[in-house]
Amino acid sequence: MTPIPDMHDAEPIPEEARAEIDRLLRSGDLFRYHAPADAPVSLLEAEFAAQLGSKYALAVSSCSAALFIALKALDLPRDAKVLIPGFTFAAVPSAVVHADCIPVLCEVGGDYRIDLDDFAARLDGVQAVIISHMRGHTSDMDAILALCDARQIPVIEDAAHSLGTTWGGRNIGTLGRIGCFSFQSYKLINAGEGGILVTDDAELVARAIIMSGAYEHNWAKHPVLGAACTKWQNKLPLYNLRLSNLAAAVIRPQLPHIARRVTDGRRNHDHVAAALNACPWIEVPDKLPQEQRAPDSLQFNLCGMSDSQVLDFSNVAGAAGVKVQNFGLSVDNARAFWNWKFLPDLPDLPRTRAMLMRACDTRLPARLTLDECSAVADALLSAAHQVMDRQKAYAT
Ligand SMILES: *Cc1c(COP(=O)(O)O)cnc(C)c1O
Repeated sequence: MTPIPDMHDAEPIPEEARAEIDRLLRSGDLFRYHAPADAPVSLLEAEFAAQLGSKYALAVSSCSAALFIALKALDLPRDAKVLIPGFTFAAVPSAVVHADCIPVLCEVGGDYRIDLDDFAARLDGVQAVIISHMRGHTSDMDAILALCDARQIPVIEDAAHSLGTTWGGRNIGTLGRIGCFSFQSYKLINAGEGGILVTDDAELVARAIIMSGAYEHNWAKHPVLGAACTKWQNKLPLYNLRLSNLAAAVIRPQLPHIARRVTDGRRNHDHVAAALNACPWIEVPDKLPQEQRAPDSLQFNLCGMSDSQVLDFSNVAGAAGVKVQNFGLSVDNARAFWNWKFLPDLPDLPRTRAMLMRACDTRLPARLTLDECSAVADALLSAAHQVMDRQKAYAT
């Protein structure tokens, strides 16, 4: 039988990164604004923008930094309400709080996607929206953009985990006013840490560039933004959330691997999902028709199990080598909204809560072979059967 690999191991960084890192280490040229032109961070921005089909890109220290700078670049007043999904990573409400805004949470359904009725009902008085494509699951962006456009509410896409996903043929992260991506190790491109934002809005990106730390006239090292930046000279705080040249040197050689990682990740995901969906106790929700996914992890709902059976399932799967985390029942999970106790007035979101109590998360990297994916599926199926057979044994 094919053994189950360690699903937390990363793919090696492409060999080409070494020569460039060596060059940077020899010269000590690590600061993005040191060289007069063509710094690795600037080249990364040009390449990333071209790959996504966006006019501008700004690399920063993390996706959280990108979300924070995006909110700041929108020039929202203090205490502006920002609508976010109730199912996301704690970094998202944190970025909102960091930007002196107030997060408003909306419900997310059993398919991990934003509940549109609840979203629409909470839009009044909201001054910006962050759509978190959590674990790469895309909500109905046509409906969301129509609702927000009608009220002239800017949409920021948290595409941290959605690089390579498309919606109606368009790249996720390019649908809203600003899209934010992560290069943290568990995302499609791994630099340890890092982030980038994309936009077509010259005014917004000029403000973002300055606030990210392009002090004095360093903004001149970004392409064609002279007029937009001059206007804001010395008028904005410098938050210094820049990316280092070393990180860019790790990221750039991974860009040509995006397409392969997307295809292989989707193949692996769909292979395991099909096997799990044949089981009465496991459900992998369908994607929406406009969406082409780029998954590197798998989420599924356990059906007909009690809380203790869900925990039992995680233990049995873990013992077989597949680490499964239930979002709601694992202790202190950063994706369970009731753990965001730094927020005042935490709402109750009964639908989101019900989903989190049954939704499970496991990594499923693109580098796995189909045989390894079958072994993962078998371990999950066998865990479900063991847990539910035990129940039968007790009942009789
Ligand atoms: C990882 C992640 C973030 C945070 O990204 P960092 O680069 O670690 O700040 C935000 N949102 C989602 C959906 C994520 O998956």
